[in-house]
Amino acid sequence: MVTPLIAGNWKMNGLGADVAQAAAVAAALRAQPARARVAICPPATLLTRLAGAVAGSAVELGGQDCHAKAAGAFTGDLSAEMLADCGARVVIVGHSERRAGHGETDADVAGKALAARRAGVEPIVCVGESREDRDAGRAVDVICRQVAGSIPPELTDCPFALAYEPIWAIGAGVTPTLGEILDAHRALRQALVDCVGEAGRSAPILYGGSVKPENAAEILALDGVDGALVGGASLKAVDFLAIIRAA
Ligand code: PEP
Repeated sequence: MVTPLIAGNWKMNGLGADVAQAAAVAAALRAQPARARVAICPPATLLTRLAGAVAGSAVELGGQDCHAKAAGAFTGDLSAEMLADCGARVVIVGHSERRAGHGETDADVAGKALAARRAGVEPIVCVGESREDRDAGRAVDVICRQVAGSIPPELTDCPFALAYEPIWAIGAGVTPTLGEILDAHRALRQALVDCVGEAGRSAPILYGGSVKPENAAEILALDGVDGALVGGASLKAVDFLAIIRAA
């Protein structure tokens, strides 16, 4: 049995005033617990303030990236240990915006996933194909190859999640068909088992890419979809809560 996870990725959005959104999510979950685990990954500048705002609720906090090393001369970077120190329980690694904008390879992502494990933070490892890959009929091959390169075998002994995020669906207002999501998740489950054996059966596989209150229920009801990684719609408590309640 896989425990579903709904994770919000605020990306480079959020100032002090937005702490109220996380506080509202926390208050709603205190009043009525969710079936799914819930995480919010704000910019690192807000982690400590959000930790205060969600204290005593089921909302977990997360980072959006981490360096592979624990400390050192890496200006501008953050280690998994630093995120843990601020209260993060999860960290997104290998988001396509990091892969594209920062040249991160599968090997880099695997190193970050190992760093998260070292720090006791649960990595959410992202994979996803481009529109070109999808149109060429190689989407499933591409994402399974990404899993093989990005999920280190050491993850057998720690919790982790995988997020399937077609690059062309992120922030675009479009999603794959339900059948395409089903096929991708089925293939990803097998790819995970190939990588880490039995541990690959209990890791949640999230769908991400334009999940909104309007489409969350049908996507989350799909066999093999164990939650969602939500970008834009996680910024407003009312929308994020609607997605959480759909799980
Ligand atoms: C994301 O960036 O992880 C994401 C899924 O974004 P959006 O929900 O805005 O498409």
